[in-house]
Amino acid sequence: MGNEALVTRLRDLLGRQAVLTDSDVTASYARDMMPLAPSGKPLAVVLPANVEQVQAVVKACAEAGVPIVPRGAGSGLSGAANAIDGCVTLSLTKLNEIVEIDPGNRLAVVQPGVVNLDFRNAVEKHGLFYPPDPSSYDWCTIGGNLSTNAGGLCCVKYGVTTDSVLGLEVVLADGSLLKTGRRTVKGVAGYDLARLFVGSEGTLGVITQATVQLKPLPQAPATLVAGFNTTEAAGEAVARVVREGLVPSLLEIMDASSIKASEAYLKTDLGAGSDCRALLLGQSDAGGEVARRELAALEQICVDCGADLAYTTDDVEEGRMLLQARRVVLTALETYGVWLTDDVCVPRTRIAELIHGCEKISEEVGLRIAVVGHAGDGNMHPTIVYQPDNPDEFARARRAFDEILEVGLSLGGTVTGEHGVGKIKREWLEREIGPIGMRVHRQIKQALDPENLFNPGSMFSMT
Ligand SMILES: Cc1cc2nc3c(=O)[nH]c(=O)nc-3n(C[C@H](O)[C@H](O)[C@H](O)COP(=O)(O)OP(=O)(O)OC[C@H]3O[C@@H](n4cnc5c(N)ncnc54)[C@H](O)[C@@H]3O)c2cc1C
Repeated sequence: MGNEALVTRLRDLLGRQAVLTDSDVTASYARDMMPLAPSGKPLAVVLPANVEQVQAVVKACAEAGVPIVPRGAGSGLSGAANAIDGCVTLSLTKLNEIVEIDPGNRLAVVQPGVVNLDFRNAVEKHGLFYPPDPSSYDWCTIGGNLSTNAGGLCCVKYGVTTDSVLGLEVVLADGSLLKTGRRTVKGVAGYDLARLFVGSEGTLGVITQATVQLKPLPQAPATLVAGFNTTEAAGEAVARVVREGLVPSLLEIMDASSIKASEAYLKTDLGAGSDCRALLLGQSDAGGEVARRELAALEQICVDCGADLAYTTDDVEEGRMLLQARRVVLTALETYGVWLTDDVCVPRTRIAELIHGCEKISEEVGLRIAVVGHAGDGNMHPTIVYQPDNPDEFARARRAFDEILEVGLSLGGTVTGEHGVGKIKREWLEREIGPIGMRVHRQIKQALDPENLFNPGSMFSMT
């Protein structure tokens, strides 16, 4: 089947409105939010409305030998959802039904196109909580979160997306529908296929439904902010929190560069003083006396580690304002240029070394790099600022991006804590997992997608 015949077939299957071919329109589906990643021109963008249509699209593309790039909201930061030339971009945004919320078993069944925030709000009405909270939660989709194994600010206590997954429905490369996983708390029948698809970045199949477990709604958070005049002191405080077994519901770090950007943007002094090198923000959502005890222990650790400022509050609005300093960093950096955010995860005892490594790289490439990160799990986002219309700056930003990964690996870390490999970290995946790890990846891909139909060349190539 040729390309034109495929488009006609897809229109017959889905209706004209659901198959977009206008190049101005398809271009808007060709990229995600990562400026470094390559992208191509899709043959068509298709928007199926149900699982049967997804199966029909997959079968038609398989027959025509046309690759498929699944896509959620396109908020990714690795180019994973970027089109390749001549592909069909399969947007899952119309599969957006919350199929079931079952408070008695504390679980929900949800389609991939549901926006994370809409899902969180829906379960909250039942007194329940869906933890995965990527900072893009107000527009990214559950399907994208599952496929990138997304994390967020509350991972330190509640884990990443995979920790909430019980079961999945996935359209396989021959169009058949795999139902895998469970609705029960425990279950060990067979391989854990559901978790194989979580984080597979659209390379193994199309997720059309997920069963996820929910938590009871946490209490309103109490908040701590602590300022340190050395990065080492802040790093030591994080290590002691881990060593002493404290589990805050949030533990974030900001380096000197991000503190400055945030203060300038918010036109406020965060109270940390001009020689402050790092800020820690912590929260407890345990409520009442337990939260007070948790925060007091956190505060004591910070003071013992030499914090110049340590302030706690159980006023929710004040806590929200303190956290605002962390949440606005990317927006604040836009005052200076375009941001390019990296994603490395290091052992929690080595956060200060990573920040110092970034300071050194910043000096070398002559570009501002601000580090913010989920300190509680060691997942750092060094963010490089550059002028997009200056090719030399863009090249230096690219260099800094790679050098940060190098530092992360040298500290015993990983090249991605939550954003994924996509189309920008393919060679880094190989460096991190080595030839045997790559061989197993290729064998799995070969077994599930023998014609290399799904997102070919993303994450790794088959050769
Ligand atoms: C400002 C900002 C902040 C961010 N903060 C975070 C953060 O805190 N934590 C974090 O983890 N990420 C973060 N991200 C990255 C991004 O939001 C996440 O990776 C998110 O999970 C992507 O969801 P999406 O719906 O946009 O997916 P897309 O970007 O559209 O797709 C991502 C991947 O999933 C695949 N995919 C999508 N849907 C399906 C499906 N149904 N079946 C199979 N494959 C599918 C695509 O092929 C692609 O490989 C941030 C991004 C931005 C722009």
